[in-house]
Order: sequence, then structure tokens, then C-alpha cells
Amino acid sequence: MVLKGLKVSRRITVIAVLLLVIISLNGILVAFLIENIEDDAKILNYSGILRGSIQRIVKLEISHTRPETLNVLIKGIDELIKRFLNGENQVKTFTQNGDYRWTLQLLNDNWEKLKEIINEYRADPTAENEAQMIQKSEELWLLANDYVLMVQSISEYKMHYFHLFFLVTVVNLILVLVIILVIKKLVRDKLEYSVYHDYLTGLWNRWAFEEFITKKLEGLKNSSLSLIMFDIDHFKTVNDNYGHDTGDNVLQALGQIVEDNIRKTDILCRVGGEEFMILAPETDIDAAVKLAERIRFEVGNYDFERVGQVTVSLGVTEYVKGDTRDIMMKKVDEALYQAKSEGRNRIGQVESLRTNLA
Ligand code: GH3
Ligand code: MG
Ligand code: MG
Repeated sequence: MVLKGLKVSRRITVIAVLLLVIISLNGILVAFLIENIEDDAKILNYSGILRGSIQRIVKLEISHTRPETLNVLIKGIDELIKRFLNGENQVKTFTQNGDYRWTLQLLNDNWEKLKEIINEYRADPTAENEAQMIQKSEELWLLANDYVLMVQSISEYKMHYFHLFFLVTVVNLILVLVIILVIKKLVRDKLEYSVYHDYLTGLWNRWAFEEFITKKLEGLKNSSLSLIMFDIDHFKTVNDNYGHDTGDNVLQALGQIVEDNIRKTDILCRVGGEEFMILAPETDIDAAVKLAERIRFEVGNYDFERVGQVTVSLGVTEYVKGDTRDIMMKKVDEALYQAKSEGRNRIGQVESLRTNLA
């Protein structure tokens, strides 16, 4: 149970780290996209200026504005297109790069053509040249408009990814928060578990036993309560003959056998090296002796791996009015001692101790 919890918490930690990596990468992408989208807004603005300026030039040309003024405008457009072409004012497209470059190139070629027509018109301002100039400026407007729309759609495409990355970051952050809470709970559960459980057998430990018996005695009204203490016979020999690890296996198997033979309400604890206690509520001495006998029988008939047969001695006592926790523990200890001294693999009983203690 503890190990499983630990494994889960380790796995969750790995997931949390992965999520944090994704969040970091996403954060970088979001920052990159924000910068990119800001650039796009600038470029969109420039391409709008370009579209408007081309139209304006032809209008001014027709209304015979001074060529010096117009030349300044023409130079401005030249500059703008050059900046688009050499990449200074270029949208980072990620996709559709071909279309974008192609439209830009076409725009430039047509602009050069318009400039030639303007010069022809200045030299020879016939109606035919004027019509040609207007025609070319219309074509250019359409191209410039295409370009504006293209920049716009590229920018929207990036916006879409921006929203997606942003959403992923938010969802990941929420997941990390949930994970932190789950880990916190797992760690708390694990700590609580370790305080009250024996690491080897997974049974309740001595601290748990003392709390259980204190609470049971406090809440006891007219019902009965019995205590059984048992200890493996000649366990030292098992360790000496088969090694400590095999001894550990015997302790684990024994814990399981006893667990399988008690009721859900009985509380089995490992209170010392090879000493165990069973707190049996609603159980009088006769029932407790029967339970002890069953345990003695089941353990004695179990074939322990490598070791074979192992026996236990058990002490049994029942609560009698006025017994404290210490008195009950003393009684059961004495009962166990009795079983040991009478030859082991048997049950000892102590009814009352108060008179002895007093
Ligand atoms: P008795 O019949 O009188 O109880 O004899 P015993 O040999 O069982 O008793 P003793 O108290 O002399 O020895 C208890 C042994 O239990 C000694 C100790 O090494 C062993 N022991 C205590 N805790 C553990 C444990 O966690 N693992 C293993 N393998 N052995 C343990
Ligand atoms: Mg022993
Ligand atoms: Mg012992």
C-alpha cells in the first residue's frame, strides 16, 4: 500500500515535470508569437500605406501636382517596397511563403512599370497615356490589396496558434496545481501510514496499538473486550539456522495467516520483534481462547517456506472492571509467560491481576 502510493507519487511527479516542460516551451512559443504578431501589425500598417500611396500618386499626377513633390512620394514607395523585399519589413509566414513572395515580387515589377508609365505621361500627357496610367494603378491597387489581405490572413493564422498555445498553458497550469495537491495528499497519507504501521508486515505498530487500546477502554460500556498476545517459539533459532531474511519472511507470512483468521473488528498489531497483539472487541475470555486456539492451530499447521513448521505461544486475558491499559498489558504478558514456561505452542490465561498489583 505504501509502496504503491510511493510509485504513484513518483509517476505523478514525472508527469508534473513533463507538464512544466510543456508549459515552458509553450511560454516561449507564446512570447515568440506575441512579438511576431506585433511585427505583423506594423507590416500590415505599412502595406496599407503602400496601397493608399500608389492610388494617391496617380491622382496627384493627373491633377498636375509639382513633379518634385511627387518624386518624394515615389521615393517613399520605392523605399517601402525595398524594405518589404529585402526582408526588413517581411512577415514571418511559417507557411504559404511562396505565394507571399510571389505577390510581393509582382507588386514590385508592376510598380516599376507604373513608374515608367508616369514618366511617359509626364513627357507626353495624352489621354491615352493617362488611361494607361490609371489602368496600371488599378492593377497595382488590386495587387497591393491582395498583399494586405495576405498579411492579414497570415497574422490571423498566428493568432489562432497563439490562442491554442495560451489555452494549453492555462490547462497545463491547472493540471500542475491539481498534481501538487495530489502529491501533497499522497505524502500526508504516506506519513500517516508510516507513523502507525510496521514497515515489514504492514500491520499496525505499537503506537497504533496503544492508541487503539486506550480508545477502546475509554469507550467501553457493558461490552466485553479481550486481549491476546502471541510470540513465535524459538524464533532466534529460525534466524540462526536460515538467516534474517528468511526470518523476515516468516514474520510476514505469520502476519497474513493471523489476519486471515480474525474478524474485521479485531485489531492485529506487531508490537515488538516477533511479538503481536490482538485487540478483540465484543469478545469474552472463552471466545478469545477459541480464537487463540485457532491461531495456534493455523500457524502450527502452516508450511513456512524453507523453515517448515513454526509454533506460537499465546497469552489471553479479558477486561474486567477497573482494568487500565497497563493492567491489561501486564495480565496478557503474564499469560504469555505462563504459556512459554509451560512448554510453548500453547495458550496461557490470566483473569485478574489487580490484587497482585495492589
Ligand atoms: P522464545 O520461544 O522464548 O520466544 O524464544 P525466541 O528465540 O523466539 O525468543 P528471543 O527473545 O530469544 O528471540 C527473539 C528473536 O527474534 C531474536 C531476534 O533476532 C528476532 N527478531 C526480532 N525482530 C526481528 C525481525 O524483524 N526480523 C527477524 N528476522 N528477526 C527478528
Ligand atoms: Mg519468541
Ligand atoms: Mg519475544
